[in-house]
Amino acid sequence: MNVVVVDDDPLVRLVLARAVASMGHVSLPAENGDAALQLVETKSVDVVVSDWMMPGMTGLELCQRIRARDAIEYVYFMLVTALDDSEHALAGIEAGVDDCLVKPVRPFDLRLRLMVAERVTGLHRRLAERQRGLERTNVEMAVTARLDPLTGLGNRLKMAEDLEIFRSRRERYHEPFGVALFDLDHFKSLNDAAGHLAGDRALRQVAAIIRRELRDSDMAYRYGGEELLVVLPAGVRSVAAAAERIRKAVENAAIPHPGRPGPETVVTLSVGVAAAEGDAESYLLAADAALYKAKSQGRNQMAVAGRWFAIPELAAQP
Ligand code: GH3
Ligand code: MG
Ligand code: MG
Repeated sequence: MNVVVVDDDPLVRLVLARAVASMGHVSLPAENGDAALQLVETKSVDVVVSDWMMPGMTGLELCQRIRARDAIEYVYFMLVTALDDSEHALAGIEAGVDDCLVKPVRPFDLRLRLMVAERVTGLHRRLAERQRGLERTNVEMAVTARLDPLTGLGNRLKMAEDLEIFRSRRERYHEPFGVALFDLDHFKSLNDAAGHLAGDRALRQVAAIIRRELRDSDMAYRYGGEELLVVLPAGVRSVAAAAERIRKAVENAAIPHPGRPGPETVVTLSVGVAAAEGDAESYLLAADAALYKAKSQGRNQMAVAGRWFAIPELAAQP
């Protein structure tokens, strides 16, 4: 253990430090409370053996300062008092001191007490390790609870949380955002012709293309079965341009789509874009309506909701 020995009397300090070292521990001598606190802050200290009466900070104050820190590592605190100081010992234990020794300290007593201290600090260390492990697991679980296992995109929970963040940012800082709702065209026929596993693979490929096409600030989610949602912190033109870029990228990837009705033979997407004012739900409703429009106009295309329905420069693109 790392044991801080605090005493303003150099001789007492030397004797106690030697005794600690002879028991196989590392002794860290300090001449006052401030120096001891400094050691506790900078080294991983297991035990403090402190004199009660010292110029400046008393042993009791030192203990209180150590207990007030926001650290999960436990510091076992031993107070050394004069023989007639039983009141101080009581106050010390009440204030968080673990053990009291009476001066002059006999090395054998110190040895016994350090054995107890080692047991207690070992227990605290194991508890702290377990707690750190639990915190790590909690963080990991919070991430996986928000992931769609098939596509690796965010799931509905993550989507709802993020949309709320996007909405509040727009309210507070007037940062615009828009959504693009993608749906695989005639996906049922791919499943029917090639099987569900091939369908799953196609869905994963499409999700990977979407992720590749997005910037770090853009988010992608699995909205439903074969419907994927992208949210971008941008105005309607940028959102529409990104949606169109993704649609083309998926078409160009030429993922085979056996059994597909019509002349197309590859997987394509229809997409509805919305960047209107309102709550998250009205965005989704508007995007869904636009998606329906894109489907009814022949699929493998984008439609933009509401008053921005016609964007000439986008409509003019091949
Ligand atoms: P449309 O162009 O109108 O969107 O036609 P569609 O066939 O894609 O639409 P429909 O809603 O009729 O069918 C969707 C299909 O998506 C049916 C369902 O089995 C399939 N699907 C949904 N989720 C998954 C999935 O996780 N894996 C696979 N393989 N298929 C899925
Ligand atoms: Mg579909
Ligand atoms: Mg669908």
